[in-house]
Amino acid sequence: MYKLKERLAKLNPPVPPQNHCRIRLDANESYKNLPDYMIEDIQRMVGEIEFNRYPDPFSTELCKGFADYYGVDPECVVAGAGSDELISIINANFLDPGEKLVVISPDFAMYQFYGELNEQDIIAVPKNPDFTVDMDKVIKAARENNADMICFSNPCNPTSLGLDKSEVIRLAKSVDALVVVDEAYMDFWDESQSMLDQVKTLNNVIVLRTCSKALGLAAVRIGFAVANETLARVLKAVKPAFNMNTVAQTIGTALFRFPDHLHANTMEIIEERDRLKADLIGLNDQVGLFDEVLDSKNNFVVALTPKADLICEKLKERSISVSNHHSFIRITVGRDWENRELTDALAEIAREIQSETAE
Ligand SMILES: *Cc1c(COP(=O)(O)O)cnc(C)c1O
Repeated sequence: MYKLKERLAKLNPPVPPQNHCRIRLDANESYKNLPDYMIEDIQRMVGEIEFNRYPDPFSTELCKGFADYYGVDPECVVAGAGSDELISIINANFLDPGEKLVVISPDFAMYQFYGELNEQDIIAVPKNPDFTVDMDKVIKAARENNADMICFSNPCNPTSLGLDKSEVIRLAKSVDALVVVDEAYMDFWDESQSMLDQVKTLNNVIVLRTCSKALGLAAVRIGFAVANETLARVLKAVKPAFNMNTVAQTIGTALFRFPDHLHANTMEIIEERDRLKADLIGLNDQVGLFDEVLDSKNNFVVALTPKADLICEKLKERSISVSNHHSFIRITVGRDWENRELTDALAEIAREIQSETAE
């Protein structure tokens, strides 16, 4: 008699993000598709694929493109089907069931998700009320619990704050654990804060990057793990050999042939984000909808408010979706007209709430 393991029986597939809103500012995607000349280049390169052949298991050309763009050694780079797949692979292979995973909450939910799936012991160290990280507390928790792995995003999704590189280095040097630093949004902050240039000297650090955010390729599923040669070799050995299909490898390789476009596009998103942030602060000065609009190192802006549920509901009525975190809302930067419609809608909502509470 086959009996499904209890931990599997209780699982349900995720609800696919069926978002029919007119303005979608909830998933931290890039608001722009690739330019036509890049799409043409991609189409030409995809047209030359030998579809009958298996892919390159090490995504050599793609990893080289990534390595050139970010100035790292290609030997240290491993490609995955999004950083999501790499988190899953690292989690399942570097930790045994019952081993200890430290997360710093709130943070990206997938670290804990894979930890629970793989029956690890999760130690969630809370962030300060203002979402900053007390690194001494994290180090203490890791040491006292004999942590096997620590995983966090920097800059952080969903808090939009960045953690100084010196603090990340201090953490890596203070613990025996594997430290996984997810830098999905580092392009929007400051590459000098990246741990990419530290992986050769720190033998317990894996840096994750992705093509899904600044590089605008969420549909294709490409992410990278960067670590010293030993860790990179292990990752290449444990990952599914053909995790990266040839179409994805080809598209990613084509993408990195346009570094000037990628840099300029990232700068444009940063400018648009700063404009959105300034507009939200300006709006808030007038109508007082939020407790605070946080500084942002990402492609989204966080607004603190106990009325998050109500605001998100009222935005949805206007076919605008943002990410609801109940004590705050996370707004992905969109095109300028989308951001303007959002701030207009928020001004309207503030007046509605005011008159509703006045009644
Ligand atoms: C969006 C995001 C990713 C990217 O995931 P992909 O699987 O590469 O699309 C990774 N980490 C964080 C924190 C994110 O917000």
